[in-house]
Amino acid sequence: MRKFTWIEKQIPPMNVFPSVTPSKTAVLIACLCVLVGWALFVLMLFFMLGLFNALAAGMPSRTPISNAGLATILGIGGLLSLCSLTYFVLALSLRCPHCTYQFLKNPKGFGSTGFSYHPSCPRIRGFNPWSYQITRFLRSRRMRCIKCGEELFHAPQLPEV
Ligand SMILES: [Zn+2]
Repeated sequence: MRKFTWIEKQIPPMNVFPSVTPSKTAVLIACLCVLVGWALFVLMLFFMLGLFNALAAGMPSRTPISNAGLATILGIGGLLSLCSLTYFVLALSLRCPHCTYQFLKNPKGFGSTGFSYHPSCPRIRGFNPWSYQITRFLRSRRMRCIKCGEELFHAPQLPEV
């Protein structure tokens, strides 16, 4: 029996029985959170870059940023936190029905952990197998566990798109 981390204990597992196929809706929400989170993160970076540029160009220090600008940054930041929180809760509560791995977790997201992807997970230049499976699910509602390589949703076997 593996030890659970503190954060895992705080979240009731959605799959009480490991053999149950995870909820597609939950996976979809998690994938969308990853997508929206990424877009917001990039947007945020651009905003920060713009802000630093403005400050470097000698923007009046008394009013370094307008209220609308501040609201936008806070809005993006809030939405970003919401997306990441939703994603983390789902990623920690959904498990692969075949090997119980938390298949939505980005294994290299928290630094190298010696995780090795299953050889049947395709790799594309610039994408790691995890992000590949996320985009694959958004495209075709199919996902493969990156640890054991099994299809998570054994729906009718359609040819790969
Ligand atoms: Zn698995």
